[in-house]
Amino acid sequence: MATQQTQSEQAPIIIVGAGLTGLAAAWELQQRGAAYVLLEAGDYFGGKVQSEQTGDGFLVEKAADAFILGKPWALELAHEIGLEPELIHPREDTKKLYFLRGGQLLDFPQNLKMFVPLDDQSFLQSGVLSPEGLQRMLDEQRLPPRPPTDDDESLADFITRRFGAEAMNFIVPLAAGIYVANPHELSMKAAFPQFLALEQKYGSVIKGSRATPRAQGPIFASFKGGMSALANAVAAKLTGDVRLNTPVLQVHPGGVTLSGGEKIAGSGVILTTPAWYAAPMLRRSFPEASALVGELKANGSVAVILAYRAQQFPRDMHLHGLQVAADEGIHMKAITVHSAKLHGRAPNDHVLLRVFFKDLEPQKAYAEAVHEVARLFGASGDPLWHSYADWRGKNPAYQVGHLEHLARIRAALPPNVQVAGASYTGVGIPDCVNAGRTAARDVLRCWQV
Ligand SMILES: Cc1cc2nc3c(=O)[nH]c(=O)nc-3n(C[C@H](O)[C@H](O)[C@H](O)COP(=O)(O)OP(=O)(O)OC[C@H]3O[C@@H](n4cnc5c(N)ncnc54)[C@H](O)[C@@H]3O)c2cc1C
Repeated sequence: MATQQTQSEQAPIIIVGAGLTGLAAAWELQQRGAAYVLLEAGDYFGGKVQSEQTGDGFLVEKAADAFILGKPWALELAHEIGLEPELIHPREDTKKLYFLRGGQLLDFPQNLKMFVPLDDQSFLQSGVLSPEGLQRMLDEQRLPPRPPTDDDESLADFITRRFGAEAMNFIVPLAAGIYVANPHELSMKAAFPQFLALEQKYGSVIKGSRATPRAQGPIFASFKGGMSALANAVAAKLTGDVRLNTPVLQVHPGGVTLSGGEKIAGSGVILTTPAWYAAPMLRRSFPEASALVGELKANGSVAVILAYRAQQFPRDMHLHGLQVAADEGIHMKAITVHSAKLHGRAPNDHVLLRVFFKDLEPQKAYAEAVHEVARLFGASGDPLWHSYADWRGKNPAYQVGHLEHLARIRAALPPNVQVAGASYTGVGIPDCVNAGRTAARDVLRCWQV
């Protein structure tokens, strides 16, 4: 009588990509006693997460600078690998945030939950929209909910429907900024299902937000050594077969082929690269899945990083930064004052800024960034140095219908070949950690007797 094999009797599970998704997948497999091979094209761990210590004492983040605690998965991982002593939180004493509208730096409204006003009065006193626009946003409380439906809608349609067209100018910078997205294309079901759920459950997003208690304590966390600390600490704990500088060319049912031609047999594959790298890898063995993955679109962003001496500013730069109204008519989207937001990002008496743009040629972005920092904060002279984080064409777009599209991708792959990561089920670090661990469990399930 034939006996069923377990994964431990099979070839290892292959993980492609050692960003946070791939690292979390490897960690999950290791915790479950499963053999794995982790293959990374680059020469470092963390993928998009890149924290760079400069020779003159700055700590620069190229992508994520913190993660949200409301989704528990990144914190759980940090806990499991013993990284909790390294946790830090955005500083409360420098929490000031501005909103740039009509060329004016306005105080950010108090008492918001993301973009949702938790009390009418303080929102009405802010100048982030016209008086009519502010009132229309608050009138959301009196609108009936959309009849229950499975249909997706864009962020722009959702905002206009619930909060009025003018509210786009305030909400889009806060919401679409996370996804670097076109609000007319961004899927509400994929990116912000919580707001759809509040509308259905409480009849209104504002009512629902006010009825659900705000979490106590900090909302975000990072690490003393930057976000790369998480990637490096997970990698240091991995005892399996982990290979840097090992690009994968093709994924097939029995494993992968490396770009050098070597084949590695696997009992399953977890493909954690962004969709635009995954599609060609799947083409030969899984043409339908490859075509579907290839249809996932990307948006772009550029962050200009600027270092100054504090004395170049005539004002106190102990603030978290600013958001720019969507109709402001400039390319710049936001500024984060990194030196004030998190401890240990700049030497004393220095200012470290990250200035965000959508797709813009980096030299142009640099020129606009320096101009705006001088105009808005009075900086004199050139920055001490500058660098870029050029993510043009590298941010997952999550278009309307994304979840249905993802279901079709999954249906076109065998259960032991999984796609996972920022292109599919959430771009935030906690989502990526959860995606990696979930994919690992799903592939393992194929071998459970
Ligand atoms: C500017 C910016 C700011 C952000 N800020 C935040 C934030 O504050 N908080 C937050 O939670 N998130 C933030 N994010 C999002 C977050 O950083 C990413 O979504 C997340 O790091 C993606 O992780 P991943 O493992 O899914 O993909 P990646 O990090 O892209 O990892 C994929 C890996 O696959 C590798 N690879 C590619 N091709 C191959 C191949 N052929 N063979 C082998 N390996 C391959 C790549 O080298 C890479 O290491 C930000 C993103 C950007 C761009």
